[in-house]
Amino acid sequence: MLYVSTRGHPDRKHFCEILLEGLAPDGGLYLPEHYPQVDAATLDQWRGLPYHELAFEILSLYIDDIPAADLRAICAKTYTPEVFGTKAIVPLRKLEDGLYLQALSNGPTLAFKDMAMQLLGNLFEYELARRGEELNILGATSGDTGSAAEYAMRGKKGVRVFMTSPRGRMSPFQQAQMFSLQDANIHNLAIEGVFDDCQDIVKAVSNDLAFKRRYRIGTVNSINWARLMAQVVYYFAGYFQASAQKVDFAVPSGNFGNICAGHVARMMGLPIGRLVLATNENDVLDEFFRTGVYRVRSGADTHETSSPSMDISKASNFERFVFDLLGRDAARTRALFADELPRTGRFDLGRDPAFAQARERFGFVSGKSTHADRVATIRDTWERLHAMVDTHTADGLKVARQHLQPGVPMVVLETALPVKFAATIVEALGREPERPARFEGIESLPRRVTVLPADVARVQTYIAAQCG
Ligand SMILES: *Cc1c(COP(=O)(O)O)cnc(C)c1O
Repeated sequence: MLYVSTRGHPDRKHFCEILLEGLAPDGGLYLPEHYPQVDAATLDQWRGLPYHELAFEILSLYIDDIPAADLRAICAKTYTPEVFGTKAIVPLRKLEDGLYLQALSNGPTLAFKDMAMQLLGNLFEYELARRGEELNILGATSGDTGSAAEYAMRGKKGVRVFMTSPRGRMSPFQQAQMFSLQDANIHNLAIEGVFDDCQDIVKAVSNDLAFKRRYRIGTVNSINWARLMAQVVYYFAGYFQASAQKVDFAVPSGNFGNICAGHVARMMGLPIGRLVLATNENDVLDEFFRTGVYRVRSGADTHETSSPSMDISKASNFERFVFDLLGRDAARTRALFADELPRTGRFDLGRDPAFAQARERFGFVSGKSTHADRVATIRDTWERLHAMVDTHTADGLKVARQHLQPGVPMVVLETALPVKFAATIVEALGREPERPARFEGIESLPRRVTVLPADVARVQTYIAAQCG
């Protein structure tokens, strides 16, 4: 399998070449040259496989430069009941007739990002050892991504993580999760500033090409193809557990990574009817799927909500879907994302015949959920169905209900556990969410964190000092 850029760069690359890279050289995103097709006979063979073997079967369609035995071992080491809490790894639970919850959030940091990041950690360690190289991952986080990256990379040979976060602005639980890690290769940098300051520092360091090359700076952001590919697997696992001809999925969405994996699974031939995209008040993507207008928001126009991991101003993976929607026309994709969007902040496909296919050919529908909807959904789900859901999952559940089809099971992806967003649970239910035993008392553990001013040079000095 070879990978191409959504903006038409002539290079074709193998998996391990793009694994450690972010964007393609022309600023586009990598996608496989074609989607491997899975027929009914293959689906039958895969049904009933343990999760790590299903992962191996799917990943081996996309990776041709890691020997099969090694890839099998990497999958087996990643997806274990010890790390993900259950033998099923992503168990499906019935809420009521026709409506299911698929748990993706029983990994080390209790959010679905572990599903991909844990694999990425093992792939990075493998590939860096093979090349005899090292990598310094620099990131910015306001919560879920940073902790998932740290728990995936802790103790890994050849990798250091430098994770910036806005000092004092993450939830107490999230701070405790990250700062209590004692591994020597994990560096928490609490920046005196807001999340945008952290992101600006990461950008500035990445644009300092001499520094970037000398200290081998890399990232683990959601545009990495390996993360997306890892997420394709749980759509298959969810489909098998629902035991129906056809299944719809509802996905709480931010950067369009999770649901893009659903799109890939559907393109491979998995019988998915609809992909229901749910946003919170930051409805960039709902607006697109309703009207064909994609309009990125300014910082001032981006709401801080009680489902914060969906608070986005633009959706970094969306270009992948638009590329497919436009029949993989790289010249048009480039014109939209490299020219029109930077110039005007928007584009409009509303009158383009391709846009009608978003629903008909690609199965996408969408909806939006507000704070009041989240609170009502959390309360209703708890009182009537005896399940406690987190704020992001509540957004998914709310929008899923607007798109139920008779006879087609709807699977809502659970993207985090309630304990991560306790304040809204208390608001909705008047009680604290349950906390898995291994997180009892983490707030009182010793912390490893360095406070730095929002100053690029100071962050660079810190990194250089750690690299000897
Ligand atoms: C990251 C995240 C999302 C959004 O996922 P995307 O892949 O960015 O669309 C939703 N819910 C939770 C809890 C998350 O951490």
